[in-house]
Amino acid sequence: MAKKWVYLFGELDQAQKYVGGDWQNALGLLGGKGANLAEMTRIGLPVPPGLTVTSEACNAYLANGNKFPEGMWDQELEALHTIEGLAGKKFGDSANPLLVSCRSGAKFSMPGMMDTVLNIGLTDATVEGLAKLTENPRFAWDAYRRLIQGFGAVVLDIPDEAFEEALDAAKKQAGAKEDVDLTAGQLKALAGEYRKIVQKHKGFDFPQNPLEQLSLATEAVFRSWNGRKAVSYRRHEEIPDNLGTAVNIVTMVFGNMGSTSGTGVAFTRNPSTGEKGVWGEYLINAQGEDVVAGIRTPKKVATMADELPEAYKQFLEICAILEKHYKNMQDIEFTIERGRLWMLQTRNGKRTSAAEIKIAVDMVGENLIDRKTALTRVTPAQVNTLLHPQFDANAKKAAQAAGKFLAKGVNASPGAAVGQVYFDADLCEAKAKEGQAVIMVRPFTKPDDVHGMIAAKGILTSEGGATSHAAVVARQFGKPCVVGASSMRIDFDARKLTSNGVVVKEGEWISVDGATGEAFVGQIPTVAAKFEEQKDLVTLLQWADGVAAEPGARSGPAGYPSRGLMVWANADYPSDARRARNFGAQGIGLCRTEHMFFEQSRLPIVQRMILAKTSEERTEALNELLPFQRSDFDGLFEAMTGLPVIIRLIDPPLHEFLPDEEALQEEVTTMKVLGKTEGLAEKETVLAAVKGLHESNPMMGLRGIRLSIVMPEIVQMQVRALFEAACDVAARGFDPHPEVMIPLTGTVKELEYIQPKLEVIAKQVMQEKGRQLDYKFGTMIEIPRAAVTAGEIARLAVFFSFGTNDLTQMTYGYSRDDAERNFLLKYVEEGILPFNPFQTIDRDGVGRLMDICIQEGRKSRPGLEVGICGEHGGDPNSIEWCHLIGNNYVSCSPFRVPVARLAAAQAAIKHAPKK
Ligand code: ADP
Ligand code: MG
Ligand code: MG
Repeated sequence: MAKKWVYLFGELDQAQKYVGGDWQNALGLLGGKGANLAEMTRIGLPVPPGLTVTSEACNAYLANGNKFPEGMWDQELEALHTIEGLAGKKFGDSANPLLVSCRSGAKFSMPGMMDTVLNIGLTDATVEGLAKLTENPRFAWDAYRRLIQGFGAVVLDIPDEAFEEALDAAKKQAGAKEDVDLTAGQLKALAGEYRKIVQKHKGFDFPQNPLEQLSLATEAVFRSWNGRKAVSYRRHEEIPDNLGTAVNIVTMVFGNMGSTSGTGVAFTRNPSTGEKGVWGEYLINAQGEDVVAGIRTPKKVATMADELPEAYKQFLEICAILEKHYKNMQDIEFTIERGRLWMLQTRNGKRTSAAEIKIAVDMVGENLIDRKTALTRVTPAQVNTLLHPQFDANAKKAAQAAGKFLAKGVNASPGAAVGQVYFDADLCEAKAKEGQAVIMVRPFTKPDDVHGMIAAKGILTSEGGATSHAAVVARQFGKPCVVGASSMRIDFDARKLTSNGVVVKEGEWISVDGATGEAFVGQIPTVAAKFEEQKDLVTLLQWADGVAAEPGARSGPAGYPSRGLMVWANADYPSDARRARNFGAQGIGLCRTEHMFFEQSRLPIVQRMILAKTSEERTEALNELLPFQRSDFDGLFEAMTGLPVIIRLIDPPLHEFLPDEEALQEEVTTMKVLGKTEGLAEKETVLAAVKGLHESNPMMGLRGIRLSIVMPEIVQMQVRALFEAACDVAARGFDPHPEVMIPLTGTVKELEYIQPKLEVIAKQVMQEKGRQLDYKFGTMIEIPRAAVTAGEIARLAVFFSFGTNDLTQMTYGYSRDDAERNFLLKYVEEGILPFNPFQTIDRDGVGRLMDICIQEGRKSRPGLEVGICGEHGGDPNSIEWCHLIGNNYVSCSPFRVPVARLAAAQAAIKHAPKK
């Protein structure tokens, strides 16, 4: 038997059986439109009789040098015959003609990208029959002229303007305002004009054989799969090219048969807000695309209650049935023919992020779906868009139109920022302190610009890419950021920037859209996003936590956590910690203490400490720092009462706290040349120290635990400060859980050297204060050697935290900054790396090390607490990996916490152990 290329709408069971029962496969075979029309037929909704030619036939046709595969056309004719029976009409019959539409429809909806022809089957002969039968010649001639126009444009490639011009001319001549004002006679004349247009463009007449119309239209729809529009849409949406489109032949129903007819499109809920209730538009006495085309102004669907009450009632019932059936918001096309309702299309409707979340949560409340389904429906990216303030779309358009466009770069960190431009970090900080909204504009940023970035509402740079310092830090702090706006020139002397012919002076207002990468001059209004006010998101994420916390969410070897991942946050300041907690973080996974050393008032003491010649001198300076450190920790423990707080001891190399060598050298030389002696000696001392601390590769030099071993006074002070703070906070009635984290361990011997010395101090402080706290000592795993000797390291360390940035650098042997500047992009473009491993964990290499590390670690210490505190902790793909290898938690920047909570739940759902 020949292959089955054609299925009637009533043959869905057969089609589904052919593809193995799976609905997704059925969508692939019949296309979304065809499969859903068949599905609506199956559940008894009013769908006009029809057939679907499969996407397999399309692929065969295209592969075959544009020839129908064997047997296809005969099957199409046979099915058409069945449809004639169902519709009680005959194709091409001049007394009682059947008309059909020929509609494209692929697996994924590609709105407007492919072709559809309506009213096929009308000819000079059948149009008269239709006029008589319906006693409505105006309607019949309108349908005919629409066919010639649609067929001419879609099948015969005649520019649509040719027809539109003739239509306009006819309207003008008749003094008609709208299409519907044309009379039967005028439409008949217009059809004649249209046929002349076909003759003129093609050299042949509009086909008068209905079967020829049908076969040419089928071919045209097949070919439209490779149309320019469709191909570029697929590129953009990453839809594979080899799916092909199905062709649907559907009995025509007519919304253009007078005042009791109409056509419309509707969503079962508001696609912009998610609000329950049918939302859409329709037109009385209209056909097909009229509603979307905007020729006439459509009415709100709700007004159908007055105009066509019966049909409206039935329509609402069908919407409810469809939602119950598909368990999702539907996007529907319908037509009412003389009071009778017909369904012409349904699909899951596209919607905004806010609507997606509201609909998912509401549908759980309505018992349509369960919580896990709701959680898998929303994407992490959708959660993300809800957290950043956004520009009012219309206001942005208006700004564009008013010539206020400034520059475009890489959309590095989403959100909308409005503020006054300043060109350096100190100025940004100072102006922000005065209460100004500030936008920091720089060629690029460096670590010593961070205080300015923190003070700024948004960041705009002319250099760098999505992983540049500015971009990474901006995302970390949730600041809207555009980088690499290369049209921009900053003139630091004149304190102004120039871009695309627009000049902005320092202190003037601009607006930066981090979601799109654009910047505008002036203040564009924004719409704010407050997490706790987004009730549906809050609810959804509570469910996420519940799903992740389910015992038995994971199964694994002994010592492996049975619940899923927790989400903690990286926070250096109490305000960050409070924000993180507000976002639902269940702990602090990384508090970096070096920020505390950088503060303006403390830096001189820090420098004195570094320059100290003797241990006593150093301790003296450290004693001055201690109260500062204690007060930093104090606020943090208070904010995180009841939850764990991991504090990392000092990590960076000391030169970072001292002035830049080159600049200092220049200063000293200048002073000497000018004969200035005041302060020269001190400067020379500092310069000598800076030179002394110089390392050829500081990232692999004296830092982390190595620094603690060489210069233990600093970490001893830190441990004292943090336990004093914890005890004090506990005395005030809070519940601190300090965890001390030692960075950059490479061998257990390092821990053996330093950790006991620190634990002694901890115990000493608790004894002094008369308190016993719940505390831990652990280490970061950032060095491959540490990962593979984790069994030994876990003898001392009670917890591990993967510093995946350093771990990735050292596993690949890349220095991140150099890699991202010089070759990483090329590597990704050339497919040498599948993605940037600093954004998403490389499971085969870095991830494998993590896996080994956890297994070895838990062998020697069952129940070892394991987390991750690198940037990867906020990346959904990396979070999934952390779930799989048995992490207890991921820790990410506060603004990523909601996204991570969803991702953690999704990993738990996706990898739930089989019962
Ligand atoms: P698209 O995918 O671009 O929406 P469609 O195939 O859905 O294209 O058809 C275009 C328009 O024609 C829609 O408004 C649809 O409802 C209408 N239409 C398609 N087939 C029929 C039919 N058999 N009877 C009445 N209207 C139809
Ligand atoms: Mg459609
Ligand atoms: Mg590190």
